[in-house]
Amino acid sequence: MKLGNLGGRAQLIVNDLAFDVERASAGRFGPTLTAIYDRFDEFVRAVPTFALGEAQPFSVVDLGSPVPAPRQVFAVGLNYHGHAAEAGVPVPAVPAVFTKFQSSLGTPFAPVPRVGETLDWEVEIVVVLAREAVRVSEADAWSYVAGLAVGQDYSERTMQFAAGGQFSLGKSYQGLGPIGPWLTTLDELSEPDRLHLECWVGEDQVQNAWSDDMVFSIPALISQLSHITPLWAGDVIFSGTPAGVGITAQPSRFLQVGEVVRSSIEGLGTIENLVVAPE
Ligand code: ZN
Repeated sequence: MKLGNLGGRAQLIVNDLAFDVERASAGRFGPTLTAIYDRFDEFVRAVPTFALGEAQPFSVVDLGSPVPAPRQVFAVGLNYHGHAAEAGVPVPAVPAVFTKFQSSLGTPFAPVPRVGETLDWEVEIVVVLAREAVRVSEADAWSYVAGLAVGQDYSERTMQFAAGGQFSLGKSYQGLGPIGPWLTTLDELSEPDRLHLECWVGEDQVQNAWSDDMVFSIPALISQLSHITPLWAGDVIFSGTPAGVGITAQPSRFLQVGEVVRSSIEGLGTIENLVVAPE
C-alpha cells in the first residue's frame, strides 16, 4: 500500500489515483496521516474493508509530506561503507545520530533553498515507525516499521562542520528535509534490506548504490535507538546516505541555483527539488 498526502488529507495511492482515507473508511481513520500513524496497526487491518469510492486524479507535484508532523526525527551519519570510505573516516562503532528539526522537513517536490555556498545532497531511505518501540530486538525491528519513503538530507556543509560539528543545524535550514513521494508499506518490497538508491543533479548521476552497504541496517538502527530512547508512532529515521555526495567529489561540487536534484529509490518512488535562491 502507498499512503500519500494531498492538502493535508491522507490518501491511498493506487496507480495514478488517490482515494481519500477518511471518506473511504466512513470517517474511522484520518483525515491526516498523523492521525493514522497513531493507530497504524488497526488501520492496516481495516484497509481491506474500505469502500474506496470515487478516485481523485492528482499530480505528484501536489503531494505533501507523507510524515507531516513526526514527534522525533533521527538521522544517521556515515552509515554506508562507501560513504565513510569517500569521507576518509573509519566506520563508526555506534550509529552517528543527529536530528533534523521537524521544521526542516518538506514536501517531495518543493524547491530547496540554496542557504549557503556549500549546499550538498544526500539521498536516503526514510523509515517511519508504526508504533512505540522500546528496547526492541533487531530480529523484531521490521515489525515496528510502518513503511519507507525517499528522503533528501540536504546539508549546508559549512554550518555542519562549524564549532566542532553542528550536524543538526547544518541539516535543518527550512526546506532541507523533503520526504516522499508517499509512504510505501513493506509488503510492497521484496527485499527491503537491499534497495537501489540513485540521485541525479541535472543530467549527472551522482549517487548509485544499494542499501545492503549500510553499516547499521534499518533493524539495527531501530534496535539500538530504542534501547536509548522510546521511538514513537510516526517517528522518522533518515537512515544515512551512500557514496557520491558533493563535498567528497574531486573537486568538491555544491548545488547551484537552477539545478534540479532528482532522488529515486527502487520501489519507493522519486522526489525532485529545484534549487532556488533563499527568500
Ligand atoms: Zn544524511
